[in-house]
Amino acid sequence: MSQDTQSTPPAGAGFSGLGLAPPIARAVAALGYEEPTPIQREAIPVLLAGGDVIGQAGTGTGKTAAFVLPLLHRLLAMPARRSGVVHALILVPTRELAMQVAEAVHKYAKQTPLTVVPLYGGAPMSQQIRALQRGVDVVVATPGRALDHIRRQTLDLTAIVALVLDEADEMLDMGFAEDLDAILTSTPTTRQTALFAATMAPRIATIATRHLRAPTRITIKAEKRAAGKLPRVRQVAYQVSRQQKTFALGRILEFEDPASAIVFCRTRVEVDELTETLTSHGYGALALHGGLDQRQRDRVMQSFRTGATDVLVATDVAARGLDIDHVSHVINYDIPTAPAVYVHRIGRTGRIGRDGVAITLVGPREQRLLRDIETLTRQKIELASLPTVAALKARRLDAARTALTTRLAAGDLEDARGLVRSLADDFDITDIAAAAVALYQAGAETTAPDAPESTSPNVAAGSDADWVALAFNVGRNHQVNTGDLVGAITGEVGLTSKDLGAIRVNPEFSVVDVKASVADKVARTMQGRTIRGRRVDVRPARPDRRPQRSESRRVEGPGRPRRRTSRDRRD
Ligand code: AMP
Repeated sequence: MSQDTQSTPPAGAGFSGLGLAPPIARAVAALGYEEPTPIQREAIPVLLAGGDVIGQAGTGTGKTAAFVLPLLHRLLAMPARRSGVVHALILVPTRELAMQVAEAVHKYAKQTPLTVVPLYGGAPMSQQIRALQRGVDVVVATPGRALDHIRRQTLDLTAIVALVLDEADEMLDMGFAEDLDAILTSTPTTRQTALFAATMAPRIATIATRHLRAPTRITIKAEKRAAGKLPRVRQVAYQVSRQQKTFALGRILEFEDPASAIVFCRTRVEVDELTETLTSHGYGALALHGGLDQRQRDRVMQSFRTGATDVLVATDVAARGLDIDHVSHVINYDIPTAPAVYVHRIGRTGRIGRDGVAITLVGPREQRLLRDIETLTRQKIELASLPTVAALKARRLDAARTALTTRLAAGDLEDARGLVRSLADDFDITDIAAAAVALYQAGAETTAPDAPESTSPNVAAGSDADWVALAFNVGRNHQVNTGDLVGAITGEVGLTSKDLGAIRVNPEFSVVDVKASVADKVARTMQGRTIRGRRVDVRPARPDRRPQRSESRRVEGPGRPRRRTSRDRRD
């Protein structure tokens, strides 16, 4: 990575070293960002110091926060800022990007009084004019629509202190060069300017020379990889939209049926949400991120190492330095913001001559990041379609075949043989075997995430007599989720998640179904322990507080659980 910045904080220093104003730093922390991405680490100090920047970085690198955070900081710090007067303008090529960037500004400015409005073509002018008249601090606009407003004098740029050209190469490709010139010349020359582009075409240099002052160039270069560092693993990527991601992950987990997997997300919040979704759909998943204390981390790691948890959902920071020998699957729920992070993540699989699989979910606009990774690793990553229902079926049959062959080899089938012989008087022997296979498969299935917002119930966990419902005095209001309960109980009591049934997390308390055989032990061991810093009190749950069997967390059948989505039956 090249830079000539003055005070780039070292990697690993987190956001606190950047010196962002407290309300901005708090918003970033609330979003669960643990560390600045490379472009943020490089660009933020320069922009905070008032310098101009040319940044080469595409979507998915965190470039939006790289220019929005310092921009908000500067507006807050302005002594003569007039509230509701446009002080910052961000130009973007498309309507979608205008909405996205405005959303990002809103998110990062949540704890400040600063406001934002997106202006783009195809929406009524009158509405946008009203928004501008009400007063707004930051405008995110497509060049055409910005010019419209400037010409009608509904957008006044005379008080602009910061201007950003986002995806400048695309704006030029779309023929906005003259519009950009016109807009830039109607803003004060004293303004700070940042220009971001995925590629540095010569025309970018022309704009930069004309409109930027001694800009610092920041290039997130494809880093050179030390030879032999990348393990030999099967690498696959799936292109999925944001809305499809949870569903896609469910499909992938179901198809791959990993022995042990780490799913990487970018933020703590995402880790928590995804863990919750996976757990509620029957996966033994636990969260690992920088927000856990040492004891919680130990519990999670213990549970993962012993195999009680098959899926660890983690941020990069939390997974760093983890002592995990081998995982069968590394899944990038979010494509890493820097190619080097990809190499680091997938280094966790395919170790010591064992097969590993690395799977990456890529957003429609994140293809470039995938290509950067290919350049760095000098390996092609196959862009595949999600496994189809037919493929899943074939996979399940395959698994049944393996299980049956193994069972046949093990022998000791006298009782079963007797039963088959007696049935053979009335039924065809192939039909009897087929029915047995179908029963095996039905018993081995659970449900997988259906759709991001889904709360689709799982299949039943067992008769009431097998389970005891215990009430814990911790719930959502204490930041406790299903994963915390599973982690704490399996870790402390030394159980596997198979000993736990349905879990319902309420605001003030949670009810956990545990196998009757271990209920006493769970209650005794957990009493007085802490979960998320709160002392636990365990009691038998009142009957009306029990989770419905239909919302049961998991079901166990013979062999490894196979998961099925309710979608399967629809598509
Ligand atoms: P962008 O490249 O600006 O489109 O950002 C891609 C995604 O990364 C967005 O969803 C951001 O919320 C997320 N993101 C940006 N910065 C960070 C960070 N430092 N840590 C984690 N996620 C981030």
